[in-house]
Amino acid sequence: MSFVRQWMPGRYDSNTVIRIGNASSPRWYDLSPVRLEEYIDRLSGWGASTTELVLHRGEFDDRTARVHVLEEDWIQVFERYRSHGFTCNVHAPLDPRFKFDRFESDPEGIKREFLPVIHAVADFSQRQGEDCTLVVHGASGGHNNPREATAAFLSWVSGELARSGSGRIALELRSPGRSMSTVFDRSRRTIAEFIRWLGDERIGICWDLAHDWEASESDPAWTQSPDPEFLELVNHVHLHDASIGDRLVHHPLQSGRIPWQSMLKPLVGAKYDSAITLEIRYRLAISLGEPWHVLGGSYAMLRGYLNATGNGEDHPAQSTETVLIEQMHETETN
Ligand SMILES: [Zn+2]
Repeated sequence: MSFVRQWMPGRYDSNTVIRIGNASSPRWYDLSPVRLEEYIDRLSGWGASTTELVLHRGEFDDRTARVHVLEEDWIQVFERYRSHGFTCNVHAPLDPRFKFDRFESDPEGIKREFLPVIHAVADFSQRQGEDCTLVVHGASGGHNNPREATAAFLSWVSGELARSGSGRIALELRSPGRSMSTVFDRSRRTIAEFIRWLGDERIGICWDLAHDWEASESDPAWTQSPDPEFLELVNHVHLHDASIGDRLVHHPLQSGRIPWQSMLKPLVGAKYDSAITLEIRYRLAISLGEPWHVLGGSYAMLRGYLNATGNGEDHPAQSTETVLIEQMHETETN
């Protein structure tokens, strides 16, 4: 069966396993409820049926409001997506107040601020009848034990999530940085060891393919295909591309720099059944053209790839040219 048919919004069947979507910063819809409705319609048309909301609570500035969904809007925005048949996942707030490092110096403070986020994840899970995944970053600051701080805080988050209902946690594989590949969450091997050591079935890995690929520059042993030991722990995926010139990530897939198709292949082959979230930065999309149009192009490439994989044939993904030609046709016929 063709995956394209399965991805028509509202027409899922029991064979449907992977939901695709993107991280929906409010800047994508000009922070406007009217544009949000239009935006979700557009996403549906591109085959999206999931989204990742970056939640925020407490004080905020303009920049925060462009990237995060503010607490007063959490339920409203969630319900808007729900009404279009989307499931929502959550990315933990990016503000330093929510950094796991804080657990070492101010455990009660971070617990107090974080708890409503956990409650939102449990609430979303219950409302959508499907686990909401909470994506988090491990501690990284100049603390003595970022690994232990992360383990202790994750165990608290997991316990609170269990107490409030259901939901899952995905610890993100982060950029290797400069020779940091031995740090617990910055290489495939170390993050898999860490998650296995935690031994909490609620907690898996958010495989960010672009951050993974960044390691290829400094690690001669880096390969496109992860081991099964890594893949079986993946419960969430982030996908974005890099610029040809400077290797900076969060670019639209049209960049064609990262071999994400080959990287994804073993995961898709292993019957991965969670979300793939495009994490494309608005300002990088805008540098290629009208941002929604550019985003639509990335969806077309991802769908084209999964479609080919779903047919069990080893076709390469649609080329950028094909996608652009299809988009031109779409524009002409609309
Ligand atoms: Zn990411």
